Amino acid sequence: MKAANVFFNFEVTDDSHTLDAYRSRGGYDALHKALCAMQPTDVQNEVTASGLRGRGGAGFPTGMKWSFVDKMSPVIYLCCNADEGEPGTFKDRWIFEHSPHQLIEGVLLASYALQVRHAFIYIRGEFDLSWRRLKDALAEARGAGLIGEHILGSKFSCDIIAHRGGGAYVCGEESSLISSLEGFKGYPRNKPPFPAVKGLYQSPTVVNNVETLSTVPWIISHGATAYKAMGTEKNSGTRLFGISGHVRKPGLFEKPVGYSLKKFIFEDAGGIDGGKKLKAVIPGGSSTPVLLPEEIEDLTMDAEAVQAAGSMLGSGGTIVIAEGTCMVRLLHVLTRFYAHESCGQCTPCREGTSWMDKIVARIAAGRGQAGDLESLERIIKGISGNTVCALGDAAAMPVAGFLRKFRHEFEFFIEHGCSMYGGRLEI
Ligand code: SF4
Repeated sequence: MKAANVFFNFEVTDDSHTLDAYRSRGGYDALHKALCAMQPTDVQNEVTASGLRGRGGAGFPTGMKWSFVDKMSPVIYLCCNADEGEPGTFKDRWIFEHSPHQLIEGVLLASYALQVRHAFIYIRGEFDLSWRRLKDALAEARGAGLIGEHILGSKFSCDIIAHRGGGAYVCGEESSLISSLEGFKGYPRNKPPFPAVKGLYQSPTVVNNVETLSTVPWIISHGATAYKAMGTEKNSGTRLFGISGHVRKPGLFEKPVGYSLKKFIFEDAGGIDGGKKLKAVIPGGSSTPVLLPEEIEDLTMDAEAVQAAGSMLGSGGTIVIAEGTCMVRLLHVLTRFYAHESCGQCTPCREGTSWMDKIVARIAAGRGQAGDLESLERIIKGISGNTVCALGDAAAMPVAGFLRKFRHEFEFFIEHGCSMYGGRLEI
């Protein structure tokens, strides 16, 4: 089946984010259909049958996640994770800016399926336009009887509360997001218990990404079979893939899962800027291991294929690196980011991210020492698998990947006190 567009199915105009515009393209028809003709379990079954997997990075099957919640619990919460902060990822922001009602409809459908009375949207603090568009859209929806008591005259009532984060990357981790929503410091929690058992205010909670929830209206309108017919057998549907770095046309594209990565870089994104050769690709946001050109030769953009190639599809944000780029200095950008964003709760991550950053900065400044690379490798081992949340691993993986594939550049820098492409960091 030819892939349809779940997101890019309208022309972006000055008012495409409004309720009228969304309704003119069939918006809220799925909610109407669900409330009039479907039981909550029917909505959940349809999402399960569609094969939709979480779009935040982990790729967990959405219907299965919903099934873990005890539906007999007196209170169940839904949290939409809109704390999009992974460098190279900018898909949820597009949804807020151009189609916020699509997310609201998705939140309402998921809330109906799970029998949630209060849903939360936790949005990244730095997203100013997204925040304003969301607030306006919630007010419009409330005014139109789409949020609140007896939605569309049905027995279903649900309120949606928008919460603006304080700008911490770690709050994109679900348990940390919950801590922050409760008014505590955004510290991730040990699991188990998982949020589906004990989440927000100690109640069963489902945390879903913006793109995941925004896909649900399409599935309810068109059916699980139509959604499953797109993508690959194990990874159905389409995804919003971002591309940035050294390409002629960086931006956001909607593609069926399983699309060719090379085609994405060289056709959709116009190829490498300045007619240079491709040096490397980070396929799924800054924490995912870097790949060489020969490793993406026949690579498709689906989780299993990218994992088999030694990396991860993550949040779908592809970063393209052209020849001539100094990988030592590029890695320093990443180590600085993770050292800054570590919440400091557990020692391997707090100390390890800081040590990695200091060593990589020293090398990039031309003051690297013999043994620095071995120290980095020891720190990576100390962090990996030994932290409360995945940020520790996310910080260690790029360092491990860069050292494995571009070790000669680090060795050159240490030996000569400058990059093999010339220059050094002035710090
Ligand atoms: Fe905080 Fe890092 Fe530990 Fe996660 S791994 S809890 S970010 S210190």
